[in-house]
Amino acid sequence: MHAIRVEQYGGSEQLLYKEVPNPTPKANEAVVKLHAIGVNFIDVYHRTGLYPLPLPFTLGQEGAGIVEEVGAEVQEVKVGDRVAFTGALGAYAEYHTVQAEKLVKLPDALSFEEGAAAMLQGMTAHYLAFAIRPLAKGDTALVHAAAGGVGLILIQLLKRLDVRVIGLVSTDEKATLAKSVGADEVIVTSKTDFEAETKTLTSGKGVQIVFDSVGKDTWEKSLNTLAVRGMMVSYGNASGAIPPFSPLVLSQKGSLFLTRPALHNYTATREELLMRATDIFRWIQSGELKLHIGHRFALKDARLAHDALEGRKTTGKILLLP
Ligand code: NDP
Repeated sequence: MHAIRVEQYGGSEQLLYKEVPNPTPKANEAVVKLHAIGVNFIDVYHRTGLYPLPLPFTLGQEGAGIVEEVGAEVQEVKVGDRVAFTGALGAYAEYHTVQAEKLVKLPDALSFEEGAAAMLQGMTAHYLAFAIRPLAKGDTALVHAAAGGVGLILIQLLKRLDVRVIGLVSTDEKATLAKSVGADEVIVTSKTDFEAETKTLTSGKGVQIVFDSVGKDTWEKSLNTLAVRGMMVSYGNASGAIPPFSPLVLSQKGSLFLTRPALHNYTATREELLMRATDIFRWIQSGELKLHIGHRFALKDARLAHDALEGRKTTGKILLLP
C-alpha cells in the first residue's frame, strides 16, 4: 500500500509518498481500509517536530473507512463495519491498524468524508464549548481562526449555548463564512486590531473566554481582551509555541484563569469518546451542525494540503483521499 512517511522533521517537502507493507492487526486492533483521511494542524506539529515522535513514522491522526480485518480480542467492531477514528497515528495511508477502542461506528446517513471531517475537530469543539467552563447567555467568547476546521464548528456549538461569539479571521471571505455559521461579530485581523476592537464591542469590559489556537503571535493580546476572572483557553500554536511566562501576569491582568487542554484528555475513556462523537454525528444528521469541507487532495498530494493549511489558505476541513 501507499502511505505518507516522515523520515526527517522539516517542511512539507518531508512528506514522502512511499510504498510500505500492508498492516496486520494486533489482538486489540482492526485494519481499516481508508476512504477519507482528515488533515489537522497537529499533523504539521508532528512533521516539524514541535511535537516530537520517533522517526520514521506515517503521519496523520484521523480517518474513516471500512473494517477489513480484526484482531483476536476485538469486541467493538466487526469486518464490514463503517467506522471513523481519531488519535491513531498513521492515518495518511491506504490502510491503517487502529486500536478498536478508538473506533466509532459511522451512522449510515453519514459519508466517509463527513466521518473523517467530524472526529478530531468536532470533538475538540465539543469539549471546548461544553467541558472547560460553564457558558451561557450573557457570556461573550472570542474565537480565533474562526473560519478554520475547529473554528467553524466551535462557533456553532457556542451558539447552541446562546453565547455571544466574536470571531477572528484574516480575510473578508473568511469573515463571511464565520458569520454564515452564526458568529455575531467578526474582526478581520489583517485590517483591525483585535484587542482594541474586542474592548469596543464589549463596552470596555472584555470577554469571558478566549479560545486561542494561534499561540505565540496572539497570546498577549488575547489575555488583554479578557474580562476580570476570564478564562484563557490556549489550545493550539499555529504561529508557534508560547514562550515561558510568569503566572503573576494572570493576577495583574484581572485574576485570569488559564488552561492548555488536549483532546485526548477529554476523550479519556471509551464512554467519553462515544458521548462526544455521538453528539456530533447526531447534530450533523439533524442538520443542527453544518460541516464545511473546504478542500480535498489526493493522498499523494499531502504536501499541497500542508502548504495550504500553513499558508492560511484554507477554510473548514481538509481531506486527503486515498
Ligand atoms: P485551522 O483550519 O484552524 O487552520 C489554522 C488557521 O489558523 C489558519 O487558517 C489561520 O486562520 C490561523 N492562523 C493564524 N496564524 C497562523 C499562522 N501563523 N500559521 C498558520 N495559521 C495561522 O486548523 P485546525 O482546525 O486543524 O486547528 C486549529 C488549531 O486548533 C490548531 O492550532 C490546532 O493545533 C488546534 N487544535 C488543538 C486541539 C487540542 O485538543 N488542543 C485539537 C485540535 C486542534 P486565519 O487566516 O483566519 O488567521
